[in-house]
Amino acid sequence: MCGIVGYIGDKNCVPILIDGLKRLEYRGYDSAGIGIVRENDAIVVKNKGKVSLLEEKLVEQNLNSNLGIGHTRWATHGIPNEQNAHPHTNSKNNLFIIHNGIIENFQVLKNALIKLGYTFESDTDSEVFAHLIDSFLNKGYNLSKSVQMALIEVDGTYGLAVIYTLEPDKIIVARKGSPLVIGLGEGENFIASDVSAILAHTKQVIYLDDGEFAEVSINNFAVKTIEDETIEKEIHEINMSLDEIDKSGFNHFMLKEIMEQPESVRNSMRGRLQAESGSAKLGGLTDVVDRLINSKRIIISACGTSWHAALVGEYMLEQYARIPVEVEYASEFRYRSPIISSHDSFLVISQSGETADTLAALREAKNKGALALGICNVVGSTIARESMAGVYIHAGPEIGVASTKAFTSQLVVLALITLLISKRKGISKTKAVELATELNAIPKKIEQILNLNEGIERLAKDFQNAQNFLYLGRGYNFPVALEGALKLKEISYIHAEGYPAAEMKHGPIALIDENMPVVFIAPKDSTYGKVINNIQEVKARGGRIIAIADDADGEIDEIVDYTIKVPRTIEMLTPILTSIPLQLLAYHIAVKKGLNVDQPRNLAKSVTVE
Ligand code: GLU
Repeated sequence: MCGIVGYIGDKNCVPILIDGLKRLEYRGYDSAGIGIVRENDAIVVKNKGKVSLLEEKLVEQNLNSNLGIGHTRWATHGIPNEQNAHPHTNSKNNLFIIHNGIIENFQVLKNALIKLGYTFESDTDSEVFAHLIDSFLNKGYNLSKSVQMALIEVDGTYGLAVIYTLEPDKIIVARKGSPLVIGLGEGENFIASDVSAILAHTKQVIYLDDGEFAEVSINNFAVKTIEDETIEKEIHEINMSLDEIDKSGFNHFMLKEIMEQPESVRNSMRGRLQAESGSAKLGGLTDVVDRLINSKRIIISACGTSWHAALVGEYMLEQYARIPVEVEYASEFRYRSPIISSHDSFLVISQSGETADTLAALREAKNKGALALGICNVVGSTIARESMAGVYIHAGPEIGVASTKAFTSQLVVLALITLLISKRKGISKTKAVELATELNAIPKKIEQILNLNEGIERLAKDFQNAQNFLYLGRGYNFPVALEGALKLKEISYIHAEGYPAAEMKHGPIALIDENMPVVFIAPKDSTYGKVINNIQEVKARGGRIIAIADDADGEIDEIVDYTIKVPRTIEMLTPILTSIPLQLLAYHIAVKKGLNVDQPRNLAKSVTVE
């Protein structure tokens, strides 16, 4: 999920690697390291924290080498510390690897390697690569063949780079689900996860495709598929600016992250969802699942966008798992005298895992004897460490201050927890399989929604001068109304409010006139008929209506001014889909107003103060 850079040539690679890693810093990371080969010696220098710290260490050691690889890690398995930072080495210390992504079957492979006598130094999934490749080298295969054989055994995603002191004329790289490029120079070659890391040195690149691996030497490169088929690759000339490249060609991180959602949501489910059997496996909850299922009550606590995810979670868990759920603002929970006991489960949600109020609420609940659980994005964050068990959302680093992909991944994880509990509590196999199959189909449906981007951009033009917005929804889509309004407020500074659609009559209806745009979230679910009534009420008062509706809904177009159609799914999962057009709408309105979308005024990405 994070950064890779590598060099082979006649220059000293150390400054090139450091410079490349600095270019990758914007993606967010928690530790950094490099591995170089010098006179048949493998030297690894790594640390928790910044690349600048690594640079200081390297300056002290005054290292010089023509072959090396560097990595910025964004932890998925094992906390961010020096031991878990990459590169990882084999026991002989003559082979090292850097890896982006997740090895799903690492535990099985690790156990098998331990049986063969291998010892592991880290808690990462990635270290498996070092020993697995070593096991093939020991059988007499060369480096390239050993990497290829290791790749055959590995399930999951990887951008991988490998160096071996006994074959110091090459770097082996591989790709599946995590980007990898080869940069071509004169008498030197580069490898990277992202062209921005090497653009200062070359504009000629080759993009590896999934399932390909390559041997890169000083003057040459050769690409093959894992099935051993030789591939002719096209050389691309890069003419994007560095700034454009950092954002993968998008104008803002927020748009990049919105567009990443098919993949981030897939990553949240990877290795956890079994669609055919209708079940979910969440390793982080294994030890506590019995206590969780037997809780008298589940309290979900969070702030901001995560609080909206919590509300959706309440609907999911109550409908399927039949456990009473309460949702609490973390900041409110801690300052009253909450009644909580060891019969309760207390689940907090935080993207950063550092949100001060959420952390304080978690501590309070833990002190009172509740089962304290966390859902976070950042591995090793304080909430992840202090909760008794939990689930990472694996959405990858989120840079835009207004949360987008973390929200949809939080919803996916809540759906997985719901499936896990309700399966154990005996929902029918048919229901479980339906839920799991629909969840499995969500990434493809998100792709369809993202194709609507240009239409939503056009629509945004008509609303950029609005002073107020109202967002209305019912049931599962009431929290989506809140989240849609929050997105707009955060980045466009337009006053917006979200309400349960039925509550409109108890106040907000007084605001409605031709200047008030009203967004209705109206998929064809169990509340649809009622939502249509509310739409009629707004229409009767001249409000301008945008509806987020089912793509099979032909009638709604007759009633409202604008429709954005999303694919159908089961009611419980609709928020994952309906929230995405609202992210795009907020984004385009803010861009049209010329605002700083990625860093809106007064807001911080991680709210570490109360
Ligand atoms: N899964 C690996 C780890 O946790 C790689 C993380 C990354 O992509 O940076 O170490």
